[in-house]
Amino acid sequence: MSPRCRSGSTIEHVVFTFGITGVSRTLSHQLVRHRAGVAFDQQSQRYVTYKQAATMLPHSIAEADEDLRARYEDQVESSMALYGELVGSGIPGEDARFVFPNGTRTNLVMTTNLRALIHMSGLRLCTMAQWEIRRLFQLIRHEIFTVSPFLGSFLAPKCVPLGYCDEMGNRDGHCPIRPHKDRVLEAWADKAKAARAAGRELPVQP
Ligand SMILES: Cc1cc2nc3c(=O)[nH]c(=O)nc-3n(C[C@H](O)[C@H](O)[C@H](O)COP(=O)(O)OP(=O)(O)OC[C@H]3O[C@@H](n4cnc5c(N)ncnc54)[C@H](O)[C@@H]3O)c2cc1C
Repeated sequence: MSPRCRSGSTIEHVVFTFGITGVSRTLSHQLVRHRAGVAFDQQSQRYVTYKQAATMLPHSIAEADEDLRARYEDQVESSMALYGELVGSGIPGEDARFVFPNGTRTNLVMTTNLRALIHMSGLRLCTMAQWEIRRLFQLIRHEIFTVSPFLGSFLAPKCVPLGYCDEMGNRDGHCPIRPHKDRVLEAWADKAKAARAAGRELPVQP
């Protein structure tokens, strides 16, 4: 059965579990927004007291002006130092963690069925998705490919099965994977006009 066939419930029996380590809280916040067909367990910032919580430096900041990068790193280090002081003075970890930046690293376990994974990949492999979560789904696709190239081939940006791009942010067509729907509708209008001139009517909705 094809994972894109009408009876999508069949592929809900195919289940994968991923250990996801060292990603930022920015990523995990996006990931756990997925609800259907997916379960998460995430490392607690409440019950785990951190000696030195790891953080992430985005490439754009790493490659930015030296002064900006240094200020970013100082800010993160000072948040972490304050966390240590708060915990050291008896403030519970669940409150001290309020100073953690979004760049704090975290670990999760994600179990998902194939139907949900195809849906999530459609959104997160799109070039409009945030770079870190997009990278995660590229790695997930790679892992699925090693198990089954057939199943892995269904993990694609949503425009691939749709045949067009529906992202507002790509109206200028800078992402070339599929034509933007505005272009598709324009092409359809041209075709309808040409058909009308030839005495034929095309269906109103493509
Ligand atoms: C590029 C991008 C930008 C985003 N920006 C923002 C943002 O600025 N702000 C923000 O808040 N969120 C944002 N999100 C998150 C987004 O709104 C969704 O919450 C997230 O992608 C989860 O997807 P989903 O709703 O398809 O949920 P999933 O749980 O993956 O659901 C899968 C499908 O099941 C169905 N479904 C699931 N639950 C229900 C339900 N309760 N009732 C009916 N049908 C249901 C829907 O058809 C849904 O599409 C963004 C996501 C992306 C990919």
